Amino acid sequence: MTAATIVRNSVLEVLQTAFRLVPWPTEAGLRSVGSPDESSPVLLTCNYDLTVRRLLAALEGCDAWVVVAATRGINVWCAAAGGHMSTHQVVSALKTSGVADRVRHRNVILPQLAATGVLALDVFRRCRWRVRFGPVAAADLPAYLGTGEKTDEMRRVTFPLSDRLQMAASWAAPASIVFGGLALFFAPAWALPLCALVTAMAVAAFTVFDRLGAHRRAILAAAFTAISLGVTLLFGGGLAAAATAAFTPLLMTAVLTFDYEGTTPLEGGSHFEQRKWTITLDSERCEGVYRCWEVCPEACFEKLEDTRKVELAHDDRCIRCGACVVQCPQDALFFEDSDGARIEPDVIRTYKLNLFGQRSVKAL
Ligand code: SF4
Ligand code: SF4
Repeated sequence: MTAATIVRNSVLEVLQTAFRLVPWPTEAGLRSVGSPDESSPVLLTCNYDLTVRRLLAALEGCDAWVVVAATRGINVWCAAAGGHMSTHQVVSALKTSGVADRVRHRNVILPQLAATGVLALDVFRRCRWRVRFGPVAAADLPAYLGTGEKTDEMRRVTFPLSDRLQMAASWAAPASIVFGGLALFFAPAWALPLCALVTAMAVAAFTVFDRLGAHRRAILAAAFTAISLGVTLLFGGGLAAAATAAFTPLLMTAVLTFDYEGTTPLEGGSHFEQRKWTITLDSERCEGVYRCWEVCPEACFEKLEDTRKVELAHDDRCIRCGACVVQCPQDALFFEDSDGARIEPDVIRTYKLNLFGQRSVKAL
């Protein structure tokens, strides 16, 4: 990699982390890593530029083909959830990228988090490619390609500090532009303190907010209102500065902790709170294909090797992403509420119910 490429990638990494809430498309098509041949593995991902660059970096030292599908520049989980990384996009990318002319096999590895949107069985029916869902994190791909096995750690989604800080940066950057920009017009001396305030709030929201208990919104707003008012009065701000110092933390708390119907890692959707849909397994139907076990990001399933079935051993961890329901070839999984109302698998496959409440779905 040349020095210019390293500098360009570093700049893009910073910009795309800070503004990751907006789509950032890269060219779809076929990429090669190392010196792949006709038996090399084929991986497929979204065309979110940050994802593609991180994937290619993680594969350094491997020989592989990478198919980039056109998913409107959105990351894998969001694109799969929103219908932009679906069976159609995957089949289309496999047919048009030219990868079929480069390899002898027809096995493709998708990111595990695409499982909410891409129906593996339909991909096979439509273009004869066999889908396997790889690890959640690109960093685990070299180990996965080496053994062909996913460990429990490779299957589970965690929200580690590094991810939390990146999410904080993605809120702090646009908020700083808005608040700092306004301050530059009316009170330039307070622009930087305002940026520091919204950045500190974003960091707090993504690092400690979910551990503050039932009154967390009030705690977050009150703590930062007290800090910003104290600083303003200490440094001699007038009435307008004090009013801004009191108002900004309230507004930021509302923005950062708004219930985005399950689209934020911090809060679930309101619909989902009201209905308490529970993942349910019909053991009679289960035939032990283990697709659910392969795709569940919370490792809710345990294999029962002796009976070739699974059990929902950790359903308390379920985040209702719907991946297991979408992939189960036996329709043995569905959502049910306490009144016995059911949401059948085909409804989940059609409407991508992982964002409960964002799409209107009628319980059957
Ligand atoms: S529930 Fe469905 S996907 Fe899971 S092991 Fe049984 S048949 Fe396979
Ligand atoms: S819906 Fe629940 S059990 Fe199914 S894959 Fe998602 S987290 Fe796992």
